[in-house]
Amino acid sequence: MHVSSASATDKGLRRSTNEDCFSAREDLRLFVVADGMGGHAAGEVASQAVVEGIVAFVEATQTMSPDQTWPVPFDLEQSVNANRLRAGFQMGNRRIAAQIAASSELRGMATTAVAVLIDGGTGTLAHVGDSRAYRLRDGQIDRLTRDHSWVEEQIRVGALSETAARQHPWRNIVTRALSGSEDLEVDIQEVALQSGDRLLLCSDGVFTVLDDGQIGEVLRRKTDLDQLCHALIQGANDGGGPDNVTAVVLEINAV
Ligand code: CA
Repeated sequence: MHVSSASATDKGLRRSTNEDCFSAREDLRLFVVADGMGGHAAGEVASQAVVEGIVAFVEATQTMSPDQTWPVPFDLEQSVNANRLRAGFQMGNRRIAAQIAASSELRGMATTAVAVLIDGGTGTLAHVGDSRAYRLRDGQIDRLTRDHSWVEEQIRVGALSETAARQHPWRNIVTRALSGSEDLEVDIQEVALQSGDRLLLCSDGVFTVLDDGQIGEVLRRKTDLDQLCHALIQGANDGGGPDNVTAVVLEINAV
């Protein structure tokens, strides 16, 4: 399988800084989006620390096997790549803890993160918080991740509709984030990929403006991936662009 990608980020119309951060490493087949929070420069520091932590760990463990020494206990019930991603999130989380310990003004900073690591026809997905992964297959859009957010919990119990959630004043409240605390829980899943699939990783700046149908409409376009990314950013900004916006789009092709 061959993976091609494009990525774009924008601070949006109503923000002066961009607390989103991303990495698209086709050589590692690793793609990450993180959305920091914490005010001043702290949100930027948090998202960058976690992205760098994940990338550095995945890069350093390309030939790692379960019987070697891992920085967090190896889970034998999960694949090597699932362990690499989960440990990568833990290492990113430790970077946040170290930075907070070194600089009290960073206290309270945190970030969401979503990452995919691709190996053959399998994509290993990890996420914490409300950055999302979508898959477009045969023209059909599917959301692969379930947000760790207050509005998602309300939708699940039937107290809020998807549309109302996108406009709710508490739509930015996440129930899980990488904040440097030791009890970090990472959701991991493996998804089958086939030739022609497109994946989108994005921050909430995209989907609080565009609904899943609109995101699917963009991803279905038969244009190059760069144009798709920019169409998503443009769509979010045209809708008011209240937040930072980041999109990483991948296409899987049999070669
Ligand atoms: Ca955001």
